Amino acid sequence: VTQLDFIAPEYGADGTFTSVSYRFSGDRDTGWKIYRDGEETLQLGPGYVPVQSLYCGICSTDLARKFLPYPLPQIIGHEVVGLHDDKPVTVEINASHRARGLQTACPFCAGGMETQCPDRVTLGIDRLPGGFAPWFLAPIDAIHKLPDGIDPVTATLTEPFAAALHAVHASGPKNGRVAVLGPRRLGMLLLAALNGYRSDRNLSFEIDALIRHPELERTSLAMGADRVVQLQNGSTERLESKYDIVFDTTGKPEGLHLALKLAKRIVHLKSTNGAEVLGMDHLTDMVVDEIAIVPFDESRLRFSWSDESDRPNRNIFVAPGVSEERIAPLEKRHPELRFHRLTIEEALRRIDEGATNGRHFPEGSPFPRFDLAIAATPETVDAILRPAAGREISLVRPRGAILFDGTASAPSELADAVCGHDIEIHTSRCGDFSKALAVLHKRPDIAEAMKTMITQIYPLDQITEAFRIAADSSQSIKVIVQTSSREEAK
Ligand SMILES: [Zn+2]
Ligand SMILES: [Zn+2]
Repeated sequence: VTQLDFIAPEYGADGTFTSVSYRFSGDRDTGWKIYRDGEETLQLGPGYVPVQSLYCGICSTDLARKFLPYPLPQIIGHEVVGLHDDKPVTVEINASHRARGLQTACPFCAGGMETQCPDRVTLGIDRLPGGFAPWFLAPIDAIHKLPDGIDPVTATLTEPFAAALHAVHASGPKNGRVAVLGPRRLGMLLLAALNGYRSDRNLSFEIDALIRHPELERTSLAMGADRVVQLQNGSTERLESKYDIVFDTTGKPEGLHLALKLAKRIVHLKSTNGAEVLGMDHLTDMVVDEIAIVPFDESRLRFSWSDESDRPNRNIFVAPGVSEERIAPLEKRHPELRFHRLTIEEALRRIDEGATNGRHFPEGSPFPRFDLAIAATPETVDAILRPAAGREISLVRPRGAILFDGTASAPSELADAVCGHDIEIHTSRCGDFSKALAVLHKRPDIAEAMKTMITQIYPLDQITEAFRIAADSSQSIKVIVQTSSREEAK
């Protein structure tokens, strides 16, 4: 049994840090107990190994952490580079069955959707203590050795860069113009990801960075923007419906509103701050589950992500309030699809029942969730996303879609944006680290540009100051915390 004792700054519900003593006790095969101030606070099953933390980046999720629906206090931090077997490594955040190397019948882990495993905890976000500490516990198969030549400080950007690449793959730009709205921490990486994706595939779309702070112009161009558009002076009218895809990285309701105006086809939502937007409370959960909202029409019954081959959406949940006149003709034309007219409660009850008795519901779908849902009000969309208070479960599968029927409902912001302008709202979450590390290895120019985003590095005992500077967009882009030195590691 290994025992590790250390002091770490713990993030509390009020958004401040306090030094607390921690103990990790256990091993990979039997699992771990985590003690906080001498008292057991969490048990983790098997599949974790201790990693010495070296550097950990601060991102918007950390800055907005007190607004997110996960328990506090916690050691946070998830963009981490550490030492494992004496080699620098980076670690994926989802501690799923698969990442822990466990054999299970979990349909999400078995179906290649382990980042959406319903039994997961996540490093530095949901329960699992994170990287702003001298040590953390990593799921054994989530550890990635850094390829030679990649600087460990730059490698703290692997996690957000993987997420940026994943977003680009999910929405698949081809031609026309694409915009990144409000590029800073994540948005700069989206510019780099778009740039890499375009040259890899010989595509011709143009990349615009839409910024409010003139000092971000140089970095935006270095990261891969073809053009920088300053939003701080004057109206945005001339940009309306100009962009095939707008990646909104502002994390603000007004950012999403603007993105919806500027987009012609898709708004890809990359960060949220937990606030109510478009009359919906569960937009953050929608991003976590990577669910899209799209206008309801026949062609969208074939909704899939751009990087997937044609996906059969066999089971469709029809929420109460959707007009039967619109469903009946589709049902006739598509005998291969099953339209389930159920109440929200009944739908959840059947999914739960299937999980208990081993009879997967709905039958014929890859995950025990509906492939698509059809809804007519923002309230129903919310209820589909989180049908039971306090449970992280949606009626729709991860990377599925909710088709919004704006014709049947009272006017709403959501109806106007999605149906009025025929715009899809896409979301996505964590990406593949191997793909991200491969790009950094193959494109030293991109890695070098990414390094210029890092504006400050603070030692762990100055984490409060590091967070203050990270939250101040006039003083920083990306702030990194050095959590221990290599010498201490020995
Ligand atoms: Zn992050
Ligand atoms: Zn799983």
